[in-house]
Amino acid sequence: MRILIVEDEESLALQIRETLNSEKYQAETCFNGEEGLEQALVEEYDLIILDIMLPGKDGFEIIKELRKEGINTPTIMLTARTETESKVKGLDSGADDYLTKPFAMPELLARIRSLLRRQSDDKSSTLSINNLILNTATQDVKLDDKPVDLTTREYAILQFLIYNKNRAVSRLSIAEHVWGDNLDLFSMTNFVDVHIKNLRKKIGDEIIHTIRGTGYMVRDSQ
Ligand code: CA
Repeated sequence: MRILIVEDEESLALQIRETLNSEKYQAETCFNGEEGLEQALVEEYDLIILDIMLPGKDGFEIIKELRKEGINTPTIMLTARTETESKVKGLDSGADDYLTKPFAMPELLARIRSLLRRQSDDKSSTLSINNLILNTATQDVKLDDKPVDLTTREYAILQFLIYNKNRAVSRLSIAEHVWGDNLDLFSMTNFVDVHIKNLRKKIGDEIIHTIRGTGYMVRDSQ
C-alpha cells in the first residue's frame, strides 16, 4: 500500500511517515502543494494524506485538480482546529475524510484502515467459491458470512487455488507460489499438505479436492 503525505510541517510529515512505515505502508512525503500535486498526478498511490494550508497550492486546489484529472485516490484532509468550515469545504471538494489537528497517530491509522476497507469494498476485490468469500485487498476470509482466521501461508495457498479454480494445481507449483524459489521446493511440498489439512479444518472439506498423483483443486459445486 503506497501512501502520499502532503504536509508542510516537516516534523509532522516525518512523524506520520515513520508511523505508516512501521505499519508496513510505503509512505512518501512532499512538503509543498505544487510538488504534492505533481507527485500525485505522476505516481500511483492507494491513499493521500493532504494538509489544507500549504505553500504553492492549497489542499482544496490539489484535490480539485486531481478529481478533474479523474484521479480518485482516497484522500484524508488535515485541518487545523480553527478551520471549522474547512471540513465542509474539504468534503465538498472531493476529500473522503478529514482529521483535525492535533490528532493521535492511532486515530489516523484507524481512519486510513477504514478508508482503504471502504475502497476495497467498492472495488469488489473479492474472490468467491461456494459459500467462501476472500477479500484480496484486506485478506479477510468469510465462510457463510462468518470470519475465518487463516495464517498468511494458508491464505496464500487458498487464494492461489481459487485463482486456478477448476484446474488441478500441483504441490510443487503451490510451494513455488507460496515460498518463492529460494527454498528446497521438493521438501516444501510436504508443508503444502500440512497447510491444506489445516485449511480444511477451517473451511470444511468440500472446497479443496485432492487430485491423486497431482495435487489439489478447488471446484465450484454449482
Ligand atoms: Ca500546513
